[in-house]
Amino acid sequence: MPPAGPEGDSPLVGQPWQMLCLVEITNFVQLRRYLGSLRADGLVHDLDGRIATEIGVSGAVRAGRATLEFMCRARSFDALRTVLDRVAEACRASFDIDGEAHQFVVAIGAAATACPNTDAVRIAEEAEAALSDSLPTSGITLRDVSVGTLGLDRLALIRDLPQAIASGEMFLQYQPKIHIRRQEINSAEALVRWQHPERGLILPGDFITIAEDSGHILALTLWTLEQVIADQVALASDGQDLTLFLNISGQLLGDASFVTMACQRVRESGAKIGFEITETAVIRHPDVAISNLQALADVGISIAIDDYGAGLSSLAYLKKLPAQELKIDKMFILDLTSSNRDPLIVRSTIDLAHALEMEVTAEGVETPAALALLSVMGCDIVQGYLISRPLSLGAFRQFMGNDPMSVLTAPRQPMFNTSASFWKSA
Ligand code: C2E
Ligand code: MG
Ligand code: MG
Repeated sequence: MPPAGPEGDSPLVGQPWQMLCLVEITNFVQLRRYLGSLRADGLVHDLDGRIATEIGVSGAVRAGRATLEFMCRARSFDALRTVLDRVAEACRASFDIDGEAHQFVVAIGAAATACPNTDAVRIAEEAEAALSDSLPTSGITLRDVSVGTLGLDRLALIRDLPQAIASGEMFLQYQPKIHIRRQEINSAEALVRWQHPERGLILPGDFITIAEDSGHILALTLWTLEQVIADQVALASDGQDLTLFLNISGQLLGDASFVTMACQRVRESGAKIGFEITETAVIRHPDVAISNLQALADVGISIAIDDYGAGLSSLAYLKKLPAQELKIDKMFILDLTSSNRDPLIVRSTIDLAHALEMEVTAEGVETPAALALLSVMGCDIVQGYLISRPLSLGAFRQFMGNDPMSVLTAPRQPMFNTSASFWKSA
């Protein structure tokens, strides 16, 4: 097999396949406990060297406390699979410390495409999802995303959606939200994904509006609610009694039958559930929406206002909503430390929410600098790739067991270091 080229190489003729790979050291916490932080970090550096030997000179980039990320090319999908096998073998080879043999246990998730215009975020999301699949068994998962990048046909998706909901093609990932002052996991947000048998992973941005427009959003949301309730009950019985939030489409805020069913299911389950709604949805039909939200709040459902600042907003309605949490849209957070305007907006939104006795969540926290600034500004809760990507329930459990608060003190690199140019370069 020809050598796989590292990032930055000009695309080699005959090597049309590109791959983003994430290697997670699943026994990192145990190693660090045994060897100390400095040595454990040094070992991760050594691991980077081993990967570099397998894939080319520049090796991997550290993309988290225990995660390495690298990109490479090859002539075929199968050749990429061989690269992963070699990397796994190299990672698992034992190493010697003061005469003692130690070993990394790694899970590998990768996404590959032969289509040069594949969207970088989509590839990153696919690699993340592949890693989530690999984590429980510390295995290797490689996904081919070329098929799905040919363009999503709206009509075909509308046709496939009801069957997908019924036959288990939908699944949830959970993204933790961390309370800065209390230094604890505050809650988590459930995000729905569609594992389409032919098109691969489809993200909600590509099917929620389709579900809304085709009348399937009620069925999808009821499925999500059932799943979230079951997961919350399972976590609570393991001693992790966190509120799990789900996103509720604006359409359903005016739907009396949805509100009645949701109230009944949450009440009888006893689960700690929250709904994320947007203010734009309230402004469309304010009276009905506010009374429905009150009914949901009365059965103990926590209400969070999502994507604040990205849509319509009205102070008159904001103070009438029975919400405990205001989530500032990630468009104000992603460039927080390089923009002149965003810090002013964020600061005044935090003050406004506190005046209305709400806690503030910043979504899209990707860098330690943004976290530090938000903390100084008095932001209560943070959510974003710096803390964790959205995770399968199993990986979320593992995250909670692995010293999750270290992110508030330890310097970390953001996930998704992939430069857009890499994917567009072939
Ligand atoms: P949202 O509720 O604002 O969810 C946050 C989105 O930001 C998620 O994208 C999440 O993966 C992404 N994100 C999280 N941290 C970061 C970060 O640090 N940087 C960046 N750049 N992005 C980050 P996702 O999962 O693609 O969801 C997109 C939207 O789809 C959600 O936005 C929500 O409005 C909608 N959605 C997701 N699940 C459901 C659902 O079950 N029902 C409904 N009605 N809508 C849903
Ligand atoms: Mg949300
Ligand atoms: Mg949001």
